[in-house]
Amino acid sequence: MTAVAATKRYGSGDTAVDRVDATIPAGRFTAVMGPSGSGKSTLVHCLAGLDTLTSGEVWLGDVELGALSDRALTRLRRERIGFVFQAFNLIPTLTAYENIVLPLQLARRQPDGPWLSEVVDVVGLGDRLAHRPSELSGGQQQRVAVARALASRPDVIVADEPTGNLDSTSGSAVLGFLREAVDRFGQTTVMVTHDAVAASYADAVLFLADGRIVDELSGPTPDAV
Ligand code: ADP
Ligand code: ADP
Repeated sequence: MTAVAATKRYGSGDTAVDRVDATIPAGRFTAVMGPSGSGKSTLVHCLAGLDTLTSGEVWLGDVELGALSDRALTRLRRERIGFVFQAFNLIPTLTAYENIVLPLQLARRQPDGPWLSEVVDVVGLGDRLAHRPSELSGGQQQRVAVARALASRPDVIVADEPTGNLDSTSGSAVLGFLREAVDRFGQTTVMVTHDAVAASYADAVLFLADGRIVDELSGPTPDAV
C-alpha cells in the first residue's frame, strides 16, 4: 500500500495530512507515531478508504482508491482491508465467535475453514469464544476485534490506537496477537499509536508532525502491497 503526495484538508482549511509519500511494506508491521493532531488517524483512514484525500493518491496493489466509485471502494474495503479501532465495536448480543464471522456472513462469503481455525487458534481465547463481549476483558475483546479483521484474510490490517483503551497487560496481549499475525501469516499491518512500547512491536515506524512525515525507522524494505 502506497500514499503518493497524499493531502487531506478539512473544510475549515486545516491541512491534516500534507503531501505525504509513504509505503506500507507487504508482510510487515508498520507503526505510525506522532503527537496528537499530527494527522495519524486521518492518514490511516485515507489509506484504508474510510476517508478520501483532497489530493494525491493511495494505491493498494494496482488499484488507486481515488479512482473507484463509492460502490467499488466499499467492496474493496470489505474484501481487502481489515480495521481495528480503539473502541472494540463488537456486537454485544453476539458471542465472540459470532462477532468474528459476522463480516463474512454480511458479505455472504464462505469462511475459509483452515484459515479461520488458525486465526481462532492464534487469538487464544479457547472456550471464551462462546462468551459475549460483556463477559470478556478489554484485551480479550480487542483480540476478538483483531480476529474479526483477519477473518476475511485482508491484504492489510489497519489499526487506529488499538491499545488506547487498554491497560499495559491487555495491550501487550493485543500487540502480541498482531505481531503473531505478521509472523505467522505475513499479515501486512499498519497501526497508529502514540505509545513507544506499542511501536516497539512493529518492524518500521513512520513519525508524523503537522501532517508531514518527519522521520522513518525501518529495516530492509520489501515490496509494497
Ligand atoms: P485522536 O485520538 O486520533 O487524536 P481525536 O480524539 O482527535 O482522535 O478525534 C476523534 C475523531 O474525531 C476522529 O475520527 C477525527 O476524525 C474527528 N476529529 C478530530 N478533530 C476534529 C475536528 N477538529 N473537527 C471534527 N472532527 C474531528
Ligand atoms: P492524530 O490522529 O494524529 O491525533 P488527526 O488525524 O485526528 O490527528 O487530526 C489531524 C488534524 O486534522 C487535527 O488538526 C484535527 O483537529 C483535524 N481534523 C481531524 N479530523 C477532522 C475533521 N473530521 N474535521 C475537521 N478537522 C479534523
